[in-house]
Amino acid sequence: MAGGVDIGAILARELPAGAVILPGDERLADYGRDESPAGPFPADVAVKCGTTEEVAAVLRLCAEHRVPCTPRGAGSGLTGGCLPVRGGVVLSVETMQRVKEISPDDLVAVVEPGVITGELQTAVEAQGLFYPPDPASLEYCSIGGNAANNAGGPRAFRYGVTREYVLGLEVALMGGEVLRVGRRTTKGVTGYDLTAGFVGSEGTFGVITELTLRLLPKPPAVATLLAIFKDVAGAARAITALIGRGVRPRVIEIADRTSIDHVRGRSRYTFPANAGAIALIEVDGDADTLDGQIERLGEDCEAAGALDVFAANDPAERRALWEARRLISPSLKEAHPIKIGEDVCVPRSAIIEMLGRVDRIAADVGLPIAVFGHAGDGNLHVNVVSDEDPADPASWAKVDRACARVFADAVDLRGTLSGEHGIGLIKRPYMHLEQSERVLEWQRRWKAMWDPLDLLNPGKLIPERRPTCSE
Ligand SMILES: Cc1cc2nc3c(=O)[nH]c(=O)nc-3n(C[C@H](O)[C@H](O)[C@H](O)COP(=O)(O)OP(=O)(O)OC[C@H]3O[C@@H](n4cnc5c(N)ncnc54)[C@H](O)[C@@H]3O)c2cc1C
Repeated sequence: MAGGVDIGAILARELPAGAVILPGDERLADYGRDESPAGPFPADVAVKCGTTEEVAAVLRLCAEHRVPCTPRGAGSGLTGGCLPVRGGVVLSVETMQRVKEISPDDLVAVVEPGVITGELQTAVEAQGLFYPPDPASLEYCSIGGNAANNAGGPRAFRYGVTREYVLGLEVALMGGEVLRVGRRTTKGVTGYDLTAGFVGSEGTFGVITELTLRLLPKPPAVATLLAIFKDVAGAARAITALIGRGVRPRVIEIADRTSIDHVRGRSRYTFPANAGAIALIEVDGDADTLDGQIERLGEDCEAAGALDVFAANDPAERRALWEARRLISPSLKEAHPIKIGEDVCVPRSAIIEMLGRVDRIAADVGLPIAVFGHAGDGNLHVNVVSDEDPADPASWAKVDRACARVFADAVDLRGTLSGEHGIGLIKRPYMHLEQSERVLEWQRRWKAMWDPLDLLNPGKLIPERRPTCSE
């Protein structure tokens, strides 16, 4: 029951058998969690929609009966964005997994939202094409969730984030109306850019039921350089120097000692024993130019203080190296009962100052903090971990204190709360640090235009209006 309405029974009457997961079914618990530490928030009902019509029917019935509805992709989010904080229905698109079209002529793919990002990449690459956004979760996150969160990843440094690849969308609105926004052409400036507005709206404007995505020709060859540094500040200094010289690789990542120590023994690739920090730099282009590029980058890194540099041109070696990089976050989570991974972004010129501030926060709060991430973009994954008892609220209060200081410092350095993970539930209380009340108010009005009853993913992204003194 949700608000006195038996929404499960109502949905079960309209949707195919097996689509509705009702109370008592143990699978329901899975829809109350994501990869963040928030929750669990139990759903009253979960629905696995297989078509746009089914999504629209759920949104029509939820609006009719005033029941909250929370869209969900693969549940890999790190901010609690897909959790049903006000109960009601979780609308999952996980089974909408069709790649409807890949067009080498138009350089577009048309896909359903539940397609797993890595599977889309494999499918387009088989046709000589390239879909650049590469969140580290690409083996299990969905393309609809990527668009909803405007996901990034290592390659964003050169190729940009998801928004730059979403040309058009089909969305179902609260109430059941289905709308097509955007276009199929790479260029196009007709009307307001509603597509860009839906991208990054974190499931609060509408449910994405189809995406038209921009593709690129697949780069003929790729090579990766691993540079070893004494410490993470040294790695950051080297990267700032490289970028200052106008170097534009497709990836510039860093990871500190705590991060790389956590993957030792877990990954096929073993980082050298002397690594106090690493930088991963990747270039693509014509095969005959890559050796030269990597050599020059290696020399530049050594000139900037690298202890060692290793080139990885062989695809198997590159895969193992990236697998190790992607294991950092899951390894931290497995090793500690408490882990919060934030993804603040600071101007590149402030990375070294931010790293220093993070060190001070760790020392003041008395908790280890691992930092890795997309240094080329100033996007640092600051992971506060704790081995204290997760059942004790004091343990979380300590972690929250550290995170609050990380946010305040990032904004103080003219950065932003989130470079790619989104705001969701967890960062919502900190929005005031970065955005003025007027800016928040215009965003509330925008949300109200699509969802006047505040039933679609309520309690996320934009915080409630703070009462003024006269109220
Ligand atoms: C180990 C790990 C590494 C990660 N690395 C990265 C990274 O490098 N870069 C990065 O950006 N993120 C990363 N993430 C975070 C996460 O994978 C992304 O935010 C991803 O885009 C979420 O996709 P999802 O399908 O799992 O969405 P979910 O978690 O299911 O949902 C996320 C949000 O999108 C909304 N949503 C989902 N589907 C739809 C839809 N069809 N229509 C409307 N709204 C929808 C939900 O309501 C929610 O607000 C990582 C996560 C993990 C666990």
